[in-house]
Amino acid sequence: MQLSSRLDRFNEPETLKMAKLGRELRAKGCDVIDLSLGEPDFDTPEHIKEAAKKAVDDNWSHYPPVAGYPDLREAICKKFKRDNDLDYKAENIVVSTGAKQSLANAVLAIVDRGDEVVIPTPFWVTYSEIVKLGEGTVKLVHTSVEQRYKISPRQLEESITPKTKLFIFSSPCNPSGAVYTKNELHALADVFIRHPQVFIISDEIYEYINFGKGHESIAQFLELRDRVIIINGLSKGFAMTGYRLGYIAAHADVAKACEKLQGQFTSGANAVTQRAAIAALTGDLRPTHAMTEEFTRRRARILELLKEIPGMQCDVPDGAFYVFPVVSQYFGRKNGDEVIKDADDLCMYLLNCAHVSVVTGRAFGDPACVRISFANNMQNIEKGMERIKQALGKLV
Ligand code: PLP
Repeated sequence: MQLSSRLDRFNEPETLKMAKLGRELRAKGCDVIDLSLGEPDFDTPEHIKEAAKKAVDDNWSHYPPVAGYPDLREAICKKFKRDNDLDYKAENIVVSTGAKQSLANAVLAIVDRGDEVVIPTPFWVTYSEIVKLGEGTVKLVHTSVEQRYKISPRQLEESITPKTKLFIFSSPCNPSGAVYTKNELHALADVFIRHPQVFIISDEIYEYINFGKGHESIAQFLELRDRVIIINGLSKGFAMTGYRLGYIAAHADVAKACEKLQGQFTSGANAVTQRAAIAALTGDLRPTHAMTEEFTRRRARILELLKEIPGMQCDVPDGAFYVFPVVSQYFGRKNGDEVIKDADDLCMYLLNCAHVSVVTGRAFGDPACVRISFANNMQNIEKGMERIKQALGKLV
């Protein structure tokens, strides 16, 4: 069958692939522990579910405005003021079917064929693939565990050329958990100020899952404000992955461009979800904070358990719900005939031998690492890490 060549330009998300393999093994009767998950294991808070039910009963069943209901866009502006001290108007906001669509809209609105897009590694799997779909040129900048997986101003400066159109990063970062401080963002902002052709996509979807001093956005630097596109959404902070709601805050021209694209792709985000989103963004944040407290406990435990595994080097994540240890010391080792050449092999070995699924760092642009999620209950985390320890212990 002759399908479009566009499909050859990008890959399936590795995160979804591992979850699928885990499900297949489970269907064969294996007790698989899923530490590859990119979603909170909690239920959506009650008041948000109530708002969704009410929206169904009140017949919110018609096409919504493409960019989102005006009262939701207002609620998002208030959220930016409340949480980030940022001033936006409804014309700056576009609501989409998940932050993933917000990202796709923004990249396709900004990037033309051959434009360079700088992405520091490790990065969320979708960034590079959506840029390739948009025919942009991906330019990866490697950051290491020693620099806590944060790009330095110097690396940023060196990566920018006259062809650079866009920079994409997340803070808190999926997969490393790195969180940029205000000073660090300021130093990056100083570089961007010298390069006025570069847009910045700041993915802040893990904003609430922060274990440190709190969230800072690069949009706070006024000289940059018109070029920053903040991406956020409800999936992580409100345990609403299945509702599919994301949003951007951007210059009105960028917002209009995203609205134009979305008008052809989806006609806008699900109406019931949008009503529930108002309840999430304007309502009680205690359930969100309670989830973060639980993630804090799990982070402490998983870091303790990682220390018991010889030779794993891991930074302490300041946000999100992943650890991203360097596992390259296991490359070249074997168990019987099975040789572990790289992180992909290690993930398959852990899945088949220990029945634990984790994700190869290659998918995130760092092939020396694996991503282990702690969005699973404490018992599974402990059991999963024990199995990983035992399986790695068998490698000689
Ligand atoms: N951005 C990052 C960094 C993510 O990790 C994810 C989901 O894993 C998303 C965006 C997409 O979120 P959504 O569920 O809103 O599409």
